[in-house]
Amino acid sequence: MKKIREAARKIPVLAETDVLVVGSGPGGLAASLAAAREGVNTILLERYGCFGGNITQAGVESIAWYRHGGTIDVQGIGIELEQRAKQMEATDPEPQSQSEALNTELFKVVADTLVHEADILPILHCMAVEAIMEGGTIKGIITESKSGRQAILAKRVIDATGDADIAHLAGAPWRKAPKNELLGVTVTFSLTGVDRKRFLSHVKMNPSTYKDWGVETSGKEDNMFSPYLKAPFQLAKEAGEIPGDLEIAGTWSRISEQGDATYLNIVYIQGRDATDVHDLTRGEVEGRKQAMWAANALKKYTPGFENASLRSFGSSLGIRESRKIIGKYNLTEKDVRNQGRFDDAIGIFPEFLDGCGIVILPTTGRYFQVPYGIMVPQKVENLLVAGRCVAGDRISHSATRQMMCCTVTGQAAGVAAALSIKEKNHCSQVDIASLQKALSKQGVRIKV
Ligand SMILES: Cc1cc2nc3c(=O)[nH]c(=O)nc-3n(C[C@H](O)[C@H](O)[C@H](O)COP(=O)(O)OP(=O)(O)OC[C@H]3O[C@@H](n4cnc5c(N)ncnc54)[C@H](O)[C@@H]3O)c2cc1C
Repeated sequence: MKKIREAARKIPVLAETDVLVVGSGPGGLAASLAAAREGVNTILLERYGCFGGNITQAGVESIAWYRHGGTIDVQGIGIELEQRAKQMEATDPEPQSQSEALNTELFKVVADTLVHEADILPILHCMAVEAIMEGGTIKGIITESKSGRQAILAKRVIDATGDADIAHLAGAPWRKAPKNELLGVTVTFSLTGVDRKRFLSHVKMNPSTYKDWGVETSGKEDNMFSPYLKAPFQLAKEAGEIPGDLEIAGTWSRISEQGDATYLNIVYIQGRDATDVHDLTRGEVEGRKQAMWAANALKKYTPGFENASLRSFGSSLGIRESRKIIGKYNLTEKDVRNQGRFDDAIGIFPEFLDGCGIVILPTTGRYFQVPYGIMVPQKVENLLVAGRCVAGDRISHSATRQMMCCTVTGQAAGVAAALSIKEKNHCSQVDIASLQKALSKQGVRIKV
């Protein structure tokens, strides 16, 4: 690629803080709330106009669709997000589990409220574009926004960008699966004008199960109901209305009383790298084309959808996987499939895997502990990573990418960052016993 030299220049300091959280998905939201509740000054920085990450940008509603009677679940900010949303009438019952489906538009207000209550300084419409380094220690970031190029100085930085942008800019090692092996990207969409009663009675007569996904299960999922749709797209393919080689099938979620199917997760495009601007562009454009094919197939071949029309697309392409840091510890398939236990555990996550050709639901009470080491990057000090870009192999990613697990790493990162300031320690040197104590005080479940 051709390169040019950018001229050096002086830039204003937009803010100084104790803890700066970059990215406001489930990981960043939890991190900022946890840090602020430890009494340190906290900034939550987000490139778009609302907090929530994939929840509010891609409209992902199902924060705990894994939860069944036997699930040993996390405790902490993730559950608080679900319950607070319910209290604020921003949820409906999720169709396949004992959980709430988020109303992702109203969740924007839920997030604003929580951020305000915790006295966090919110900064929206602002993108982190460079790391400020002093030797191997991060001192802040450089931002770009309508206010221009500015700096934010921070004692600790938490990278919750999903793509490990800050770790990458700071020079911490990371890895990314080859493009064709990365989990697919999705343009989610919603339809209006659905005859809810007619659709739900059709589903009752023709229920799908997780077996229909055609992926690895543990067997117990094969007879469990899944809000999964494949038949309409198959029929459209047979009729030549959708290209025959296209993988198109997926799930529905909330269907409101007014007839809005708010989160249709049906398009899945592989071979797109979320750190490549051309791939992001192609993903959006192709995704919308495929979403329209899917919408037309639903109208034509699904009872209840006959009079449906497009309500909205997700406001940004939904990303499942990109860079992952190489951490002090890298979580493994063995850990997530065999109830891993760790001395530096900062939370638990039920044995729930979804992605990479696997769906395993935590119906039996099995869980693994989440180690602090997966959030600590190599080579860069005072930076922690939370959310889907924590360290681990591909199969462990199908657990750690889950929104509830992102809140577990987020909450721990927030508390650890605050604690390291109070202890005058580097993030990598945080006293684990004190961290576990502080997390327990915040209501986190570390062991059962
Ligand atoms: C279509 C789809 C369906 C899914 N379904 C489910 C599901 O049912 N249940 C589930 O648990 N998970 C699901 N997932 C996965 C889950 O949504 C993500 O793994 C999770 O949201 C990751 O959380 P995060 O906080 O790490 O990152 P994200 O939610 O991706 O948030 C990252 C945030 O950082 C911001 N950001 C990024 N870079 C910068 C920067 N340089 N400067 C400033 N801000 C920045 C982004 O705008 C974004 O707000 C799904 C994902 C997709 C795409």
